[in-house]
Amino acid sequence: MNEPTPRPVARARWSPLHQAATFEDRLGEVSAFGATLRTRTPAPVGSEIRMELLDDRGESVAVGLALVDGHEAQGMVVSFLALGVDNDLAAGLVLEAPRSRPSRPSLPPQPSLPPPLPRAAVSIVEDPFAEEDLEPAIEPLPLELGVVIGIDLGTTNTCAAYLEDGRPRIIPGRTGTNTIPSMITFDPDGTWYVGQRAADRQILHPLRTVYGSKRLVGRTYRRELAAELQQHFAYPLGEAEGQRFGARIDNRVISMDTIAARVLDEVRSTAEAHLKRPVRGAIITVPAYFTEVQREAVRRAAREANLEVLRVVNEPTAAAVAYGHNQPGKRSRVAVWDFGGGTFDFSVVDLQDGEFQVVTTGGDNFVGGNDFDDIIASHLLAEFQLQTRVRIDPTPQQIARVREAAEQAKRALSSLPEHTVELPSFVQKPLTDLRVTVTLQTFEELIQPLIDRTVAIAKQVMNESDLVPSDIDDVLLVGGTTRVPAVQRSVERLFLRRPSRRINPDEAVALGAALLTGGAEDGVPTLRDILPMSIGYGAEGLRFVPVVSRGARLPAAQRVELDADLLGSVHLPLFQGESADASHNEYLCSIVVEDRSLWDKGRVALQISFDEHCVMAVEARHARTGRALPVRLDRTRAVEDVLRELGSYEGPALEERPAVPAPSLLGRTLGKLFKIFGR
Ligand code: AMP
Repeated sequence: MNEPTPRPVARARWSPLHQAATFEDRLGEVSAFGATLRTRTPAPVGSEIRMELLDDRGESVAVGLALVDGHEAQGMVVSFLALGVDNDLAAGLVLEAPRSRPSRPSLPPQPSLPPPLPRAAVSIVEDPFAEEDLEPAIEPLPLELGVVIGIDLGTTNTCAAYLEDGRPRIIPGRTGTNTIPSMITFDPDGTWYVGQRAADRQILHPLRTVYGSKRLVGRTYRRELAAELQQHFAYPLGEAEGQRFGARIDNRVISMDTIAARVLDEVRSTAEAHLKRPVRGAIITVPAYFTEVQREAVRRAAREANLEVLRVVNEPTAAAVAYGHNQPGKRSRVAVWDFGGGTFDFSVVDLQDGEFQVVTTGGDNFVGGNDFDDIIASHLLAEFQLQTRVRIDPTPQQIARVREAAEQAKRALSSLPEHTVELPSFVQKPLTDLRVTVTLQTFEELIQPLIDRTVAIAKQVMNESDLVPSDIDDVLLVGGTTRVPAVQRSVERLFLRRPSRRINPDEAVALGAALLTGGAEDGVPTLRDILPMSIGYGAEGLRFVPVVSRGARLPAAQRVELDADLLGSVHLPLFQGESADASHNEYLCSIVVEDRSLWDKGRVALQISFDEHCVMAVEARHARTGRALPVRLDRTRAVEDVLRELGSYEGPALEERPAVPAPSLLGRTLGKLFKIFGR
């Protein structure tokens, strides 16, 4: 017997571009141009929605984007931006009759489409639908038809790209720029703005505008650490759920993970509006020096933004892919100097016949262009007080103004010998303007300690892998901060060569990520990466015992055996980093194994492994019988308790790391202004 042919019925599954929820509703009318949608939860007029028409088996017959043109009593009118509905399909759609509700009036006749309704918001006065219709169906859209994009999730700016006919292309932001500010502003009424709209509001709402979330995403909150890091943030930090860092806004703490998700959501919706197709998934880049939990936090944030993460790739590796693209047969060893708004990464990558092998990598997530801004801002405040004899305790507004002016001065000084900062009515009582001229020489003297730190890190990273600068064939500059001439000179001095001009420092990472989204027909490059930081456990005396060492080729796996306690349980705190003192490394989680077979100090074999994408997995077995045991990764215990239990550090003398410059005047002011209190 033949299967009955599915009939296209006019139901639609849709989701607003800025929300995770998906709704399923009946259509009132439909044409090749648009439709009326009988919904109780209309999206705002002028907003875009992802929309999918379904047949009577729930299979998709058309998918794409639509624009909400107007509201009416029983729903909303949308016009299709790109949905693949033609006249034939529209004519073949069978409209479902609305379920009868005797006590309510039936739907009035709907206007035929086009033309769409004028864009005027008409509020919904009554609820014409049955209760069972009101529940939104929260399920992801089937996105087989969507595109995969590459996303460079930056501290300051985020950039996305896609592959078209084998060539990577940048996806412009809503205002036509190639990048989107990684910022978000929360209004008191709960509305939030992401990207340029947030950047535009920063001066007015400095305490409600969150920037630099990438520096803290996935990091474990500790009070002393928060007090130290507060110096880099002009809004108050706090502890979010799950021992995460967050931004304190009003009486809430919004986790940096949520903020990253909103930024990614904005990237997705901007990309969908530009490409006029749904975005199915992404390859996302992160600093090579990100820990395991930070990578996992980015994956989770992307999932929250309705993005399937195909892979998390290190930024320098993606930049090397952009550099190596279109150079078949090229063999070279390149150093990637990735200096952005908030992080510095240094990596050495070998390129050979479309294969990219990371040789070594290292960095610092707390040195970047934002710190240059803070140093200039500190200088501006000090000069202002010296010149005017007006003493101030800067308010958040003044800090926001002076930081913005400092960033502009920094950019200007990349091409000019001096720049004058003017901030009218900087102080109200007595009414005083700020007017300070910054010369290139002063600027370079101010930032030299930060540049020296990056050079020291790069030397140390090469040294640890027995590399010297003359082993490097080419140097790639990535990230906006490499536009600073003093940075370029320091790199040139170290490698005794001019850096490559083949790549654009702002776009290379996103373009490289887009190249990796390709299929075999696009000649997608092969990546061979390494573990950026050692993973190990904390032992008595706060000693850090590495299990999988930094630089291990991926995939990698190591075993460790240990005894359970009398009750048959093992709690092993995992850390990531290079310090012999576990408390100086990042706490990841605790491995917990509990099983009756381990009673009275049974022996457990744990295997910690990383796949080629650096995703960690832990397996546990009974050491004697080889039987698999249930294993849990626990993040609920307070890190302070975990550290206290390990005692105080009793290991060998700690190794010297490149010195961290003292906090700037602005940093100290921020530390004082937003004091971190106890739990
Ligand atoms: P990224 O994280 O790569 O987007 O880099 C952003 C950082 O680069 C920010 O701190 C910017 O202020 C900085 N930046 C961008 N353009 C310039 C420029 N022309 N001169 C100096 N710094 C710049």
